[in-house]
Amino acid sequence: MIFNKASRVCRVFEHHRKRFYSIIIKDELSGNYTLNDAYNHAKKKCQCKLSKKLPKDVTKKGVFACNELDLKEINVYGFDYDYTLAVYKPAMDFLLYDLGRNLLISKFKYPKGISELEYKPNWAIRGLHYDIEKGLLMKIDSFLQIQFGTVYKGLTPISEKEVLRLYKNKNIPLAYVDTHGKNHQYITSKMVQLADLFSVPEMSLLCNVAEYFERNQISYNPEILFNDVKTSVGMGHPLMHSLVIENTAEYLEKDPKLRIFFDRLREHKKKLFLITNSPYKFVNAGMSLVLGEDWEEFFDVIIVQARKPMFFTDESRPIRVYCKESNTMLWDKVTELKKGTIYFEGTVKQLMAMTKWKGEDLLYFGDHPYSDLADVTLEHGWRTGAIINELNHEIDTLNNEDFKKNCSWLAILTQLIEDQQDSQEPDARETLKKWEMERDSIRKQLKSVFNPQFGSVFRTHNNPTYFSRRLFRFADIYTSQMSNLLEHSITHTYYPRRGVMPHEYASLFV
Ligand SMILES: [Mg+2]
Repeated sequence: MIFNKASRVCRVFEHHRKRFYSIIIKDELSGNYTLNDAYNHAKKKCQCKLSKKLPKDVTKKGVFACNELDLKEINVYGFDYDYTLAVYKPAMDFLLYDLGRNLLISKFKYPKGISELEYKPNWAIRGLHYDIEKGLLMKIDSFLQIQFGTVYKGLTPISEKEVLRLYKNKNIPLAYVDTHGKNHQYITSKMVQLADLFSVPEMSLLCNVAEYFERNQISYNPEILFNDVKTSVGMGHPLMHSLVIENTAEYLEKDPKLRIFFDRLREHKKKLFLITNSPYKFVNAGMSLVLGEDWEEFFDVIIVQARKPMFFTDESRPIRVYCKESNTMLWDKVTELKKGTIYFEGTVKQLMAMTKWKGEDLLYFGDHPYSDLADVTLEHGWRTGAIINELNHEIDTLNNEDFKKNCSWLAILTQLIEDQQDSQEPDARETLKKWEMERDSIRKQLKSVFNPQFGSVFRTHNNPTYFSRRLFRFADIYTSQMSNLLEHSITHTYYPRRGVMPHEYASLFV
């Protein structure tokens, strides 16, 4: 049977929801129990089980497979730079926010009062959608449903009732959301997704300024605000680059194992390449810190300012040689790619033609599920790995003992409600209502431990988020940092989990 990556994810989620609990409760409810008896019994059973054995911790060094990947078949390793090889400290978010906010005032003449608005760390998570018509930031799941309790205008939450009034129902039409067209233009959609980590400070600035406008009753067009914030943060990048070059260690994490990982690749004669949208001097400062001054010697091909995702989609844009001494591009025609030379722009077609690499031999790592991974896997057959730094925080949360207990009880309580929902007696209706309120309260708790406003990057209450659906579709494997691959051999095969599909039996054996 052939499953694609997305359907496999659905099976895994369903598997987690129903595993164990269905069998336990149904067996015990076969007598003449009242609903309260059933509840007490289930609670006792849950506590008893959890006191003996909590689910095993997930390792933060885990490499998680969406699709089977055999590293023996991989001869070429490719890397993105920002947030893939270069992992930034929180200082980077503050810097991007401050530069963007200052440019809003100096270039776009926004009110001086916004200079008082500070960056709020952990306010937003990546993968959120912004409705450019209505000026709302929200989380959407893989079925394009808005998750209630995650819709904000500025910093103010919007009630479920208000969301339903604005959108008629909680489902967002596909055309409203889907922006991943061939040309990557936001033409018809009314929502934009903020899918890379650089966009987290951008969302904080957007919401802070919108809140300022709302509170001071200043009228504004949400689309113009979005564009101005995006442009300001983008315009801050050159200054950010020079500040990071001056003081790289203040902004960049150094993972001592990264060099060991690269040494191992070189030892096994793997071909290596780097494709980044960032400029050479910025990349050079960061790579010298994270990999060492001789970092260029590891790579067979280095391409800077590549303009991804266009690098992967455009038919033609000449690849050029970058001259380090003069910090300019040369005009010579490039007919071969030489080790030790830095290249600029170009397209994936030229890269593949000149290196003669085959797509299936190649594993490319990036942090952006669309601009790094989508086209290379869909169009060019490359194998893909996603570096998702948020996994560290998500796994810490999953491993928390109270979280595990709450999760288990939620699954059992949900099963109780599902089994007993057709009881018609007035007392039973009352009890069911109480159970539903308790379930709602546990779900809110489970959500807010990830992030009080938006919850987990990966899931809503029941479903994968829109972000994770894309991630699971476009990434063969994902992990929190590059050096986690050292936990396994260079010939390791990553196997996806066999979960349970909704129509399959729930069993301990699958
Ligand atoms: Mg990146």
